[in-house]
Amino acid sequence: LVRLRARLARSQNSLGKGLLTLLSREHLDEDTWEEIEETLLTADVGVKPTQELVDRLRERVKVLGTRTPEELRGLLREELLALVGTDYERAVKTESGTDTPGVVMVVGVNGTGKTTTTGKLARVLVADGRSVVLGAADTFRAAAADQLQTWGERVGARTVRGPEGGDPASIAFDAVKEGIAEGADVVLIDTAGRLHTKTGLMDELGKVKRVVEKHGPLDEILLVLDATTGQNGLMQARVFAEVVDITGIVLTKLDGTAKGGIVIAVQRELGVPVKLVGLGEGPDDLAPFEPAAFVDALIG
Ligand code: GDP
Repeated sequence: LVRLRARLARSQNSLGKGLLTLLSREHLDEDTWEEIEETLLTADVGVKPTQELVDRLRERVKVLGTRTPEELRGLLREELLALVGTDYERAVKTESGTDTPGVVMVVGVNGTGKTTTTGKLARVLVADGRSVVLGAADTFRAAAADQLQTWGERVGARTVRGPEGGDPASIAFDAVKEGIAEGADVVLIDTAGRLHTKTGLMDELGKVKRVVEKHGPLDEILLVLDATTGQNGLMQARVFAEVVDITGIVLTKLDGTAKGGIVIAVQRELGVPVKLVGLGEGPDDLAPFEPAAFVDALIG
C-alpha cells in the first residue's frame, strides 16, 4: 500500500503543487484565477467541477484574508476531498446471494486494461480467502481468453472459456454455472469492449447481463477506463452507461498520467464512484480507491 501511494504521488502531485503555488501568490487577480482554472482543466477535472472548485476557493480565500501555506494546503485539501466525495460506498460488492456466488461483470473498451484488471481483482479476492471463477467472455480479442487463463493459473482460479468468436453470453452463463457448481465465492466476467456500433455493444452486453441474471442477481458492473484517455474516455464512459447500469469505475494507468482530475470528472459524469485504481502492469498494482490518500497524493 505504501508503494502504491508513492507511485500515485509521483504521477499526481503536479496538479496540487501547481494549485498551491498559484494560490500562494500575493495578489490573487483575475489572471491568477484563470490560471488556476486552466490548471484544473488541464488535469481533466472537467468544466463544471472546476467552476465549482474555483468558486469555493475564491470565497474561502476571501474569508481567510492573509494565507499561510498550511492554511492554503488545508483549505485545498478540504475542497478537493469534498469534490472527490467521501460518502460513496467504494468496496467492490461480491456477495449478493447466500447460495450463489457474487457475480461481477467487467466492461470497457479494449485496451483500457479490462483483462488485466479482472486478473488483478481475482488475485486480491483469492488473497482475501475467496474462491474465484473467471469467465472469459471477451471472445472478440483473440488473446484475451489466454491472457485471462494465465492470470487464473497464476492466482488459482479456474477459467471458463469458449471457442474463439463464440457467444459471450453463453460463456458468461457457463462461468456462473461453474461457479455455482464449485461453490465458488465470486465469478468475475471479462467482456468484449468493441465500440463498433452502440447497438452492437448494447445487444452483446445486455445479453450477457440478462443471461447471468438468470442464475441470480449481479453484484457489480465495473467500467474500466484508461485514465490517460481524458475526454475520449469520458465519451466512452457515457456510451457504456447508456448500455448497462454501471455500479463502479476502475481507473487504470493512473501511474502513466498526471491527469488525476479524471477521477472527479468521471464520477460526476456517471454518478457512480471510482472503486479501484490501476497503478501499473504488475499483479499487485490494483488498489482500492481511497479519497483521502488520493487527495494527499495530489497535493504532495
Ligand atoms: P483489455 O483489452 O481492456 O483487456 O486490456 P488489457 O488488460 O490487455 O491491457 C492493455 C494494456 O494495458 C496491457 O499492456 C496492460 O499491461 C496495460 N495496463 C493495464 N492496467 C494498467 C495500469 O494500471 N497501468 C499501466 N501502466 N498499464 C496497465
